[in-house]
Amino acid sequence: MSSLSGKTALVTGGSRGIGAAIALRLAQEGADVAITYVRGEDAAREVVAKIEATGRRGFAIRADAADAGDAAGAVERAADDLGGLDILVNNAGAGVIGPLESLSLADVDRVLAVNVRAAFLASQAAAARLPRGGRIVSIGSCMAKLVPGPGGTLYATSKAALIGLTKALARELGERGVTANLVHPGPIDTDMNPADGPYAAGQAADTALGRYGSAAEVASMVAYLVGDEAAYVTGAELSVDGGHAA
Ligand code: NDP
Repeated sequence: MSSLSGKTALVTGGSRGIGAAIALRLAQEGADVAITYVRGEDAAREVVAKIEATGRRGFAIRADAADAGDAAGAVERAADDLGGLDILVNNAGAGVIGPLESLSLADVDRVLAVNVRAAFLASQAAAARLPRGGRIVSIGSCMAKLVPGPGGTLYATSKAALIGLTKALARELGERGVTANLVHPGPIDTDMNPADGPYAAGQAADTALGRYGSAAEVASMVAYLVGDEAAYVTGAELSVDGGHAA
């Protein structure tokens, strides 16, 4: 029997990149998986087809994490359609990097809405549904631990907020046997941060391993955290960053 057999999961921002890799990995481990997306309908459909090819149920929900109603509503829909919810992965994120003076109020509002408020609201909605043994995993960033240069004020602020959310969720939900953890990826080769992009060489050099990571390497950590073997891990920050913070 697969380790997540009979479980149900929602992965926000699951149409591409790290979220798509997590969704697929959870399905390979036996879970039925819903994903959200905002623009990439075709990409979302492809991920759902890959989930279904594992023999598990998959479906996509168009839900903009920048919208408060969508952020909570996606959890309700996933739980209703899947017949319950065991696992929430808060993955959808906006990466706005730039000099402090260049960041507009609209940037601030959008990044905080997607990276922080949506994770809060989805966790709140999920907490009302998760059974004993339920799991919340959020995707932070190595920038919450170490900011290697200028340009990261807004993004690092948003990702550092998830540390507080995760610890407080762990305390609030621990009595019910529900865990909450935070995964900090280092530079990972995705559309958001391509390994052949203009800033890639510097980011690779900032890691101890001297390379980008893959979305599958992050998914591997998430698969561990949502499984039975991680039942005593909660309120923790786990880095999958090639030693970026070392
Ligand atoms: P990508 O840009 O490659 O993919 C983002 C995914 O999130 C897509 O599925 C996209 O959907 C979805 N998404 C984006 N905005 C929204 C929104 N407002 N509402 C719903 N879904 C949305 O990003 P990554 O895979 O690289 O990043 C995933 C997470 O990992 C983010 O939280 C990011 O901050 C974090 N991270 C990434 C790192 C990296 O180096 N790549 C490093 C550290 C952290 P659609 O296809 O519809 O656009």
